[in-house]
Amino acid sequence: MPAIDNFNFSGKKAIIRVDFNVPLNDKFEVTDDTRIKAALPTIKKVINDGGSAIIMSHLGRPKGKTNPDFSLGHIKGHLAKLLGVDVQFASNCVGAEAEEKAAGLKAGEVLLLENLRYHLEEEGKAKVAEGASEEEAKAAKAEMKEKQQAFSKALAGLADVYVNDAFGTAHRAHASTAVIADFFDADSKMFGYLIESEVTSLDKVLKSPQRPMTAIMGGAKVSTKITIIENMLDNVDNLIVGGGMIFTFVKAMGGQIGSSLCEDDYLELAKGIINKAKEKGVNLIIASDCVAADKFDANANTKVVASGEIEPEWLGLDVGPDTISTFKEVIGNSGTILWNGPAGVFEMEKFAAGTKAIGDAVVEATKKGAFSLVGGGDSVAAVNKFGIAEGVSYISTAGGALLEYLEGKELPGIKAIRG
Ligand code: AMP
Repeated sequence: MPAIDNFNFSGKKAIIRVDFNVPLNDKFEVTDDTRIKAALPTIKKVINDGGSAIIMSHLGRPKGKTNPDFSLGHIKGHLAKLLGVDVQFASNCVGAEAEEKAAGLKAGEVLLLENLRYHLEEEGKAKVAEGASEEEAKAAKAEMKEKQQAFSKALAGLADVYVNDAFGTAHRAHASTAVIADFFDADSKMFGYLIESEVTSLDKVLKSPQRPMTAIMGGAKVSTKITIIENMLDNVDNLIVGGGMIFTFVKAMGGQIGSSLCEDDYLELAKGIINKAKEKGVNLIIASDCVAADKFDANANTKVVASGEIEPEWLGLDVGPDTISTFKEVIGNSGTILWNGPAGVFEMEKFAAGTKAIGDAVVEATKKGAFSLVGGGDSVAAVNKFGIAEGVSYISTAGGALLEYLEGKELPGIKAIRG
């Protein structure tokens, strides 16, 4: 697998899988172009070398149907502006129009293909009718697999080289993220700059962290983070738990959590994690105090209470000042920091202090030489909200793919290229 920086795209057509699954407003304007910006270095490398770029992505969930609401045409103008070159568009990612336009591309030109997910073959999920027999289900799956191969081959046929720069979908074994790679030989497929830097940065955190290593896990639910937390216990010195998931742990320890978010099905697992952390000598930090509110509302009445002494009807929506000082101290002494998920409902001013304090502490530690990686949609949103993106070492734009990597899984999009 060549490294993109060493590859010369001159005279080559490169099909690049990017993640342009960006939010649009009701006028179909891009409201957050972080993901588009993240793909620019790869696209620019191709065109600056004198190659041409054929860009493919999904947008939303059109479920195999052509639906103008999910057209990548909405993004074309924004991309052209950011790239500073004209962008051509093919209204179907495969077929005659795409083939003609791809064939006609000259050095330095860019072609954006319509949404890959207008075709069910992209995701390759077979439609199995309700009540279908095992045989029928098997046949439907085999048929879809064949169709997916043909679809992947058609995409591959548009180009000489395949570049995957969509870390956001690297955990999916889809046509454009994995299957297509089979139609290119080993020296004609590679990672784009984004995936390359994601993988390098994540490996710095997961495989060779500078100690002490601290993971900050926040967000709403334990259920979505449990596997990562378990995997982290083998890697970290400190594990900070923030966000709504605090209260599943607090309840598991016998605390009164009022109406705070809690997943009762996970109480035993939470207890297990507390015990495992002890066994492994991991410093597990669960908020000792919190900002409780009388309702889930930006203007709620609030008070600081111990996390295990929340009155009925009240709910913990941020960590409290004692917890913030503990977080600051631990983060400040870390050599490597992984931050995934907010400490509270940071979208509301009254419950943003914990998340902001984590952000500031991460920036301070980074200044002192720590390597910090922030990942997961909401932590990135928080970092952007507080304007501290410049102060962390690396920001991962991926959601699910990052989580699966952190869980210790091998990602199909990475494997398809790296082998
Ligand atoms: P996740 O997508 O699981 O990372 O969760 C992020 C969301 O968790 C954010 O929108 C936060 O507002 C929310 N959140 C953080 N802390 C709490 C809390 N204590 N109670 C309810 N929601 C929370």
